[in-house]
Amino acid sequence: MLPPYHHEPFTDFSIQENRHSFEKALLQLERQLGREHPLLIQGEEIFTEEKIISYNPAKKDEVIGVVAKANKELAEKAIKSAEETFHTWKKVDSKERASLLVKAAAIVRKRKHEFSSLLVKEAGKPWNEADADTAEAIDFMEYYARQMIEIAKGKSVCSRSGEANEHTYIPRGVTVTIPPWNFALAIMVGTTVAPIVAGNTVILKPASNTPVIAAYFVDVLKEAGLPPGVLQFLPGSGEEIGNYLVKHPKVSLITFTGSKEVGTYIYEQAASVRPQQTHLKTVLAEMGGKDTIIVDKESDLDIAVDAILTSAFGFSGQKCSAGSRVVAHEKIYDQVLEKSVQKAKELKVGNPALHDTNVGPVIDQSAYDKIMHYIHLGKTEARLVTGGKGTDATGYFIQPTIFADAPPTSTIMQEEIFGPVVAFTKASHFQHALDIANNTEYGLTGAIISNNRSHIQQAKEDFHVGNLYINRNCTGAIVGYQPFGGFNMSGTNAKAGGPDYLLLYMQAKTISEKF
Ligand code: GLU
Repeated sequence: MLPPYHHEPFTDFSIQENRHSFEKALLQLERQLGREHPLLIQGEEIFTEEKIISYNPAKKDEVIGVVAKANKELAEKAIKSAEETFHTWKKVDSKERASLLVKAAAIVRKRKHEFSSLLVKEAGKPWNEADADTAEAIDFMEYYARQMIEIAKGKSVCSRSGEANEHTYIPRGVTVTIPPWNFALAIMVGTTVAPIVAGNTVILKPASNTPVIAAYFVDVLKEAGLPPGVLQFLPGSGEEIGNYLVKHPKVSLITFTGSKEVGTYIYEQAASVRPQQTHLKTVLAEMGGKDTIIVDKESDLDIAVDAILTSAFGFSGQKCSAGSRVVAHEKIYDQVLEKSVQKAKELKVGNPALHDTNVGPVIDQSAYDKIMHYIHLGKTEARLVTGGKGTDATGYFIQPTIFADAPPTSTIMQEEIFGPVVAFTKASHFQHALDIANNTEYGLTGAIISNNRSHIQQAKEDFHVGNLYINRNCTGAIVGYQPFGGFNMSGTNAKAGGPDYLLLYMQAKTISEKF
């Protein structure tokens, strides 16, 4: 019997002892940098000629690690292995599969600061963001372990006399996981262990910007006792390996988190039935967001400013949940804007390995160029009130940037920038604010800051987002507490970390016996 689920607490870095142990972990990690990590197929570690090199986005020339790189032959081998192992893994008792996740969670918990410090180095996360990422990874394992035990009980259906009916859930087969770099540990872990605990086999193609932390996690699963062949670790290029896996007739399900462009492409490719394919594929896609914080006329402005800053600049705005638009009532617009600008100017941009850094780098050169392009464009569409500058000399740093008076249909109010950029616009009344908020192709997260009960009620009904937050920031969903996923072009709304998530990796089977 497992104890009830509670989310993993965050580390309190205001306590000196915690700061010291994190600094120690960062120092220890320095000694592990640059190591080479193999692929894993059918339990066999494979080193390849071609490699992926992972760099620190805050210090461009610092190599975090070197990871083997798969080609199509290795991808085919990985699929064969996953196909074969599925026949045995699906028969392993679900409690045993669940206990493997709990063991893996315990290993990560023990090495928490080591994982978080790797996130600081490889993904450029400030301490608190890295710590939250690791905590979420632990949560996914603990939560899905418990969910699996529940699901294995099946659901009751009616039976007539002389008949016994059963409604059960069985796994689907070979699955592919393509996680993002922005929650390099949490989402990678969640989207890997969910299909595993549900009885599927997995091919994990990690994000090419953050393959080292994925390699560390593969070792954790091995240490926890995962049998060979259940998970294949297959770093490689999206174009070559990702494409090959997505189109493969033996793959039954693809879990993807990333851009709308890649997500819709995968969706389309997976829809087409290829020779030797005996099933329709499922795609679980978690794509972008253009998430809005509405600040009502009657609201606590300090809460509003705090919510805006956290949502817009946490992890440099590189979250699909990031609050990249603020719609404020015209009566309080100037005040909210002014206070937000003031606070944004106080944020310290720099090396995330230092405890007092608030905003670290963005992930790589192409992210830097893309964000700077949007900032450039924003200057022609709206009024730049703070930030707007960046440097890519030693790492990819961009100042927290605020635009004011952005027309609701302007590009910076419509397209996902995935950087530390937020645009403000004015609303003349609450319905107007809601209309602006809903006026995007996405529908992931949103927040409303208000003390007006009827407006809060209206937002609950009409703010069309998968995750709506009231009087707080719109980022940081907690596994098991705030299942996460969005509407419209934000994806298939899988609700990761929710009670229905594992069912997506399973199919229902009805059995009716006459006696
Ligand atoms: N689950 C994260 C949050 O609630 C966002 C995930 C993402 O950016 O992909 O902030």
